[in-house]
Amino acid sequence: MNWKRWLLYLTFGTILGGVVGALFLLIFLPYRDLDILISNGTVVDGSGGPPRVCDIAIRNGKIAGLSSWRFYFSRAKLHIDAAGRIVAPGFIDVHTHVEPNIPPSGPFRADNFLRQGVTTIITGNCGRSRTDIAALFQGLEKNGTYPNVATLIGHNSVRQQVMAFASRHPTSEELNRMETIVDRAIKDGAVGLSTGLVYLPGRFAATSEVVALAKVAADEGGLYASHIRNEGPQGIEALREALDIGRQAGAATEISHFKSTGPRQWHTISQRLALLDEARLRGQTVTIDVYPYARSSTTTDVLLPDWALRDNRLGLKEVIASSEARRKLREDILFRMNEEGWKDFSFVKLAAGRREWIGKTLAQVPLVARNLDQQVENLIEISLLGGAQAVYADMDEQDVAEAATNAYCTFGSDSSVRDPTAEYLPHPRGCGTFPRIFRRYVREQGLLTMTVAVHKASGQAAEAFHLGNRGVLKSGYWADVAVFDANTIEDRADYDQPFAPPLGIDYVIVNGVVAVDHGNLTGNGPNGMPVRFQ
Ligand SMILES: [Zn+2]
Repeated sequence: MNWKRWLLYLTFGTILGGVVGALFLLIFLPYRDLDILISNGTVVDGSGGPPRVCDIAIRNGKIAGLSSWRFYFSRAKLHIDAAGRIVAPGFIDVHTHVEPNIPPSGPFRADNFLRQGVTTIITGNCGRSRTDIAALFQGLEKNGTYPNVATLIGHNSVRQQVMAFASRHPTSEELNRMETIVDRAIKDGAVGLSTGLVYLPGRFAATSEVVALAKVAADEGGLYASHIRNEGPQGIEALREALDIGRQAGAATEISHFKSTGPRQWHTISQRLALLDEARLRGQTVTIDVYPYARSSTTTDVLLPDWALRDNRLGLKEVIASSEARRKLREDILFRMNEEGWKDFSFVKLAAGRREWIGKTLAQVPLVARNLDQQVENLIEISLLGGAQAVYADMDEQDVAEAATNAYCTFGSDSSVRDPTAEYLPHPRGCGTFPRIFRRYVREQGLLTMTVAVHKASGQAAEAFHLGNRGVLKSGYWADVAVFDANTIEDRADYDQPFAPPLGIDYVIVNGVVAVDHGNLTGNGPNGMPVRFQ
């Protein structure tokens, strides 16, 4: 061997070493310093793709990468061993009502959402929202928010701002003003227009008014989300109206808290879902959301006829003065009960209002009712005092399961922020919706696979509501993550204990910060942010 050969070996060796070293640096160096490394978990990434065991690197609020080997030399400030756990995107609650809970100063807390694994909530549903979306988002940015918050612009709120509670059609000038507010809202980042056509003052809007406003939203890409005019005997007509509005406006249409209520309508959910399929065949984009419970919750006002609530409850005022009006009201309430198939009012349990009412049915308060007439009088008395929030045992479990497992369905709790210290008995959906889906529909009943359930609770929701880089565990996306145990995840909230927190959720991470650690709020953050339409 001569010196030339040695030189050749040395040169090749150096080059090879250089290449290997460069490769090493190129592969491992970008991941040397991480904020969080979640290792060995079963990653269900929210895209609908199959689960795989791998590690997730988080840095600067975003997912830095997913791999089963590239983070070998990484140093993470926090290392989470997720062996045996599901690692999923943080859940997206597409249907909430949190406007009253956002404080004018100080951060927005939403503990009951975070504890369920929810990292993003969409508020402004059922026609009720803030009308100044820019100010809402600026406030959240300035004061801080624990979850990410997106919003719809609510038709009832817009109409009230322009026309108060007038029970008539808008003038063209009034309609113009409403259109301007909706246009501004979408430009400021609202994801679409919502309606609540059973509520005031939306009840008094004609279809054409909603079409005009939905069109303004759709022109900017926003969707149309509707609490439809009727979810009981006129449910099919109400669905037709919503689909019509979406079609005429050219808007993607979301039917909120999809259901069929009242004994006569139980087991009709397939027909309702079929109606949506027909619209899709005609080329419309139609989606739904569901809370996984057979009881609903809303104000007792929904049991009253339109005329009683017109012009800011003017009809109810007439009832006080006129026995004729009271007789008419009684008749209308009874007609509707009968139409829906109810024999009495024991299915309506008051959730709020006067202390002595809470937890009692309309057959029990304000007076113990000896007969149906007395129960109707109870409703009238409570309505005269302004009405109250109630829980209605008005759905069929199989209907709920069929809607919840429909391919186009995502999940929304229909909840506000829960205050366990306040005196009320709200619907448990505010503390149990997401864990309940994984317990009942995935683990106990096997109606959804883990992959599909996670997709619905995250990626599918982000897509339907245009939330941008969220809802999927993917490099470059925001690091919203829920780590939970598929075998133990469980909702504990029920109708008697509506605040009980869920079990089985190990970590909830919002934009790269651990907000919940084994069921306990860490207090880290607030690290949420407004989520604008994208
Ligand atoms: Zn609603």
